Amino acid sequence: MRIDKAKILVVDDEMGMREGIKRLLEIENHQVDTAETGAQGISLGTAFEYDLYLLDLKIGDCDGTEVLRQIKARYPEAICVIVTAYASIDTAVETTRLGAYHYIAKPFSPEELYHLVGRALERRWYILEARRLREEQERRLMEVAHEKSRIRTIINTIDDGIVVVNQEKQIVLWNPRFVKLLEIDRKINVGDLVFDILPENLHEQFNQMFAGQTELKAIKQEVVIHAPAKLVIMVNTTPIINTSGEMLGVVSVLRDISELKQLDLLKSQFINMAAHELKAPLSAIKGYVELLIDRTLGETLESYKQQLDRSRERIDALVSLINDLLNISRMEAGTIRRDIEPIDLSNLLTHTVEFFHTDMDKRSLTLDSSIEPNLVMDADREEIQRVFTNLISNAIKYNKENGKITVNAQRDNGYIRVQIADTGIGLKPEEKEHLFEEFFRAKNPLTRNITGTGLGLTILKKIVDSYAGRIEVESEFESGSTFTVILPTNQIN
Ligand code: ADP
Repeated sequence: MRIDKAKILVVDDEMGMREGIKRLLEIENHQVDTAETGAQGISLGTAFEYDLYLLDLKIGDCDGTEVLRQIKARYPEAICVIVTAYASIDTAVETTRLGAYHYIAKPFSPEELYHLVGRALERRWYILEARRLREEQERRLMEVAHEKSRIRTIINTIDDGIVVVNQEKQIVLWNPRFVKLLEIDRKINVGDLVFDILPENLHEQFNQMFAGQTELKAIKQEVVIHAPAKLVIMVNTTPIINTSGEMLGVVSVLRDISELKQLDLLKSQFINMAAHELKAPLSAIKGYVELLIDRTLGETLESYKQQLDRSRERIDALVSLINDLLNISRMEAGTIRRDIEPIDLSNLLTHTVEFFHTDMDKRSLTLDSSIEPNLVMDADREEIQRVFTNLISNAIKYNKENGKITVNAQRDNGYIRVQIADTGIGLKPEEKEHLFEEFFRAKNPLTRNITGTGLGLTILKKIVDSYAGRIEVESEFESGSTFTVILPTNQIN
């Protein structure tokens, strides 16, 4: 292998020799530059790396070895052939020491020149090839380093804990989340035994994996870390298998599922409470029915009027409880059908207040209402109706005889504020705290005879939240309460 079309610099002060060499080399398709002085030779020769330098040792203005020295200083791998009429062992030794590749003694035949140039260019080819391979390797190494640091960054920023263990059960890779999730308080080093690092309740999973008991399948396990903190982690351990099916190690991904577990717990508490709320009225109805079956109060139906009326009330209450439960579950599942359209809240509120007139009269309540007209927002009519109905019926239910209800609605800076105040039994501060919780009902002598499900305000809050609104409550025990619903509107006429 050799360079075919080489760039060659000839430095010689003898024009005949300079041009002669140039012509001979050009016949071979090489591109030849010439310099007639040492200074010119240094300037050309160090501005660009030629494939080959042919340097005369005896130049008029300077010593040829200086040209060689400067070129080699600039390009240590440059191939320099010394052309000299004073060939001697001394010059050969001296120039070789300075890095010359070879020398050729004047006079020489074209064949001698071609032969030497051929060898020199062969050498040049190997130098360039070695340089190319070196650069390629460096580039690859850079790429690998870059790729490695990219993967590192990704692994370090993943929100799940990750640990990779080799066949010798040594930790080879982990991320900060792994350390944090397991609250590992010692420094981990590559090569640490996994069993020295992991909490004991995770050992079994790794043992099984390494004992091959899993038939090389993933193992999922829920683990509670530090019992009092109730940190629940889902650990997913998978074998790392190579293309020939051998297990190289194990990778474990750890995810904090504490919040999900908490939700699970709340869900079962909810089911528990719902079952309890459903059971109580059913037991009461069963009691009444048994009185009737056993004819305990006599033979005529009239003797059971009170029990039948109470049964009907309890059944009505059960139906509304079941409806509320269905509503909550539909809202949570997002399966509720909504018809969003511009709703005139002023009209809707006025009609809802009117609907409750008879109930207010029954309790001798006075009404003071001030509703600004044309309060329009995009909403589902039934949902907003439900919010108003719930607040007004509560203001009636939890009011005192001869009390007062004040209804106010107005625009307020891009929002609609609806306020319903009563002069009723009010709430104690600790009752107020739980107001929007499922099944919460204040239990005191004043509420004993008031029926309800304890789900109305839960539903109301969910509705208001779904419109990005909010609800505020002010209340004083035995004096009254004010509920304010604030709904954002993008369409105020
Ligand atoms: P329900 O009225 O069916 O019990 P809600 O969810 O509407 O259910 O109300 C939950 C509880 O909040 C009520 O049981 C009552 O104790 C309290 N509450 C609601 N509205 C008022 C009010 N206007 N005044 C006093 N207490 C109220």
